[in-house]
Amino acid sequence: MENTKKPFINIESKVLGIFAPEEFSQLTTNEKLYTYHLSRAAWEGCKICFFQSTYESPGLFILFQYIFNQPINQLKKDCISSGISEDDWNKFCLYFAAFLQNTGNLLSFGDTKFIPEVAEEIFFKIIQNSFSYKNEDLKPIIDNLWNKTKGFVYCFEKPFDSRGLFPDGLTGYYSSDLEKEEVVLVNDFMKIMNISCLNTRIGKINSSEYVILIASVNIEEKKTHYYKEKKIHIVTGDYSSILRRVSYHLDKAIEFAANKNQKKMLENYVRHFNTGDIEHHKNSQRDWVKDVGPIIESDFGFIETYQDPTGVRAEFEGFVAVVNKKQSEQTAKVVSNADKFLENSPWPRDFEKDKFLKPDFTSLSVVSFGCSGTPIGINIPNYDDIRQNEGFKNVYLGNCLGKPTTIDFIETSLADNLLKYYTPCMFHIVIFHELLGHGCGKLLQEDSTGVKNFDPNIINPCTGKVVETWYKGNDTSRTVFGKLYSAYEECRADSVALYYSCFPESIDTLQIEYNGEWKEIMEGVFTEYVVGGLKSLQYYNLEKKEFSQAHVHGGYVILQVLLEAGNNFIIIEKTKKDNKDWIAVKIDTKQILTTGLNAIKNFLLKLNVFKSTADFEKATKLFAHYSVVNEFFLEIREIVVNNKKPRRIELQGNVELKNTGSNNEVVYKTYPETMEGVLESFKNRFSTIDNEMLSLWENSHEFMKPL
Ligand SMILES: [Zn+2]
Repeated sequence: MENTKKPFINIESKVLGIFAPEEFSQLTTNEKLYTYHLSRAAWEGCKICFFQSTYESPGLFILFQYIFNQPINQLKKDCISSGISEDDWNKFCLYFAAFLQNTGNLLSFGDTKFIPEVAEEIFFKIIQNSFSYKNEDLKPIIDNLWNKTKGFVYCFEKPFDSRGLFPDGLTGYYSSDLEKEEVVLVNDFMKIMNISCLNTRIGKINSSEYVILIASVNIEEKKTHYYKEKKIHIVTGDYSSILRRVSYHLDKAIEFAANKNQKKMLENYVRHFNTGDIEHHKNSQRDWVKDVGPIIESDFGFIETYQDPTGVRAEFEGFVAVVNKKQSEQTAKVVSNADKFLENSPWPRDFEKDKFLKPDFTSLSVVSFGCSGTPIGINIPNYDDIRQNEGFKNVYLGNCLGKPTTIDFIETSLADNLLKYYTPCMFHIVIFHELLGHGCGKLLQEDSTGVKNFDPNIINPCTGKVVETWYKGNDTSRTVFGKLYSAYEECRADSVALYYSCFPESIDTLQIEYNGEWKEIMEGVFTEYVVGGLKSLQYYNLEKKEFSQAHVHGGYVILQVLLEAGNNFIIIEKTKKDNKDWIAVKIDTKQILTTGLNAIKNFLLKLNVFKSTADFEKATKLFAHYSVVNEFFLEIREIVVNNKKPRRIELQGNVELKNTGSNNEVVYKTYPETMEGVLESFKNRFSTIDNEMLSLWENSHEFMKPL
């Protein structure tokens, strides 16, 4: 067994600055003010993510605010002179930097908890050195915060070690004492009542009384229902004090909006956050989709459900990004050629949308991304009906992509090739994943009046028979595929990216500057997927026997598909390096366009047809087949885990309003890429101690209970 305490974040973690000073400087004053208010809304709303992480995270956040409510250097000086080593100080800063960036003490990517590398007594000694602790009025508040959180901060025992549902793990979406069956019961009730789960959490009063908390500014009277002999209370006004500020800044941004769609979108956001009604959010996303190619892109709401163990509750997310003109011109070319690309897709035309809804695709640089981590590409909205009928948008967040310095396990020539072509390979993967990947494929549907959007006589290419299954009534791929959905859909999008790397026109269209180097990029993309599939094993949970993250689960499946193709196309062997267990991976690049392409083509056909036809049963079987981690891969996993590199810690800039006499000036601020830089950025972002957040935390303990 590996040492499970080996932190995924440790003192060797690198800080990645996500900055956009040049893009920001090109904005007009109005655009800067728009960006400012949206940034404020994003960061205030981001406090919700701490509540969604673990029970203790909101308390730890306030503790951070108290400890660092003074110049960081001063605190460091006082700590060192009281005998704390520089090493311990650095580990303390690292812990809070990681905690803030992940908006909680669970890794946002991978769902594992991380604990401080510095001993508990020293952690507390540092707290005692702070100005706040030396203030007699504040000392009891800090003692209280520390006493309520310290037991959790250092606990790495099950279920405290990972995100999940009790008894497998814990999450802030549910009172810690809620068991699976109870969550299912409340979710069923919500379905019947037509209440969206997205912006909710579930509390428990006792074994026959539950609370559904709906995020909203407005606090309405509590409604109580009886369902299957249980009492269920519906309570609005969850996160009210936080969302009030989100609404305030979104409302303030309206006067600086660039067009009517942006104004309407913002008004709908405000309605949504004020009332908690998801219909208003859906309307905001309709306006958002219509706002094609804006200079400043943004999105707000309870968006992604990756972190809810039941896959229905969403994390708060708010971002503002500024267009990157050159990259956007390149991605627009893929959009206008989408139909041409899809002529080469492995599935028949009947399984493709009648008309490819050309999504807006822009390349952006993030200015503020308030969430537990930044993605490098996004494709939203997630509402199937809007995606299907009105469209969606894709954004590539270019400044969030880091770059590795080494690539383990793969033969040297392929590692060097990938390092050399890393940027174009990732650009290809992200653009084809987001645009064609998530965008392609038709859902065969029959509406509630019996009208079908497909010819009922079409042949299913996987069975050779007439299609037998499809979506009915209000079915969506998310509801039909349930827990399988995220990993399956990410795998489908990645398979599309891998498949299209085999066509030179992909490079010619997207990255003309590399048109003589298509083969190298294709080899780089295959290398990235093979190595990525191996690395995904570090997110395989031995006890739960499942992958803890949708994208990496999909990545492992793709690796298995390529391996199953046989013919010695890919060889993975255990070996030794410097007397340590190691992995040697070879790809026979001469076979990429034969064995490799064939394997991914056949697999992609199945993935897509099963999704199109709502064939949950076959999809589950197919996916389960490639998800098996056998004895050999368990051994490989151990080597991967023992050699994993610590995750990066992201550092973002800030947009600030400077009052310079008669004029308000908006400035963009960057920070040094250090742990202290991360702390400083969060201090600047949240300059006053949020006592409302503290009461929100303490007042919810009667039903959002710790274990
Ligand atoms: Zn995706």
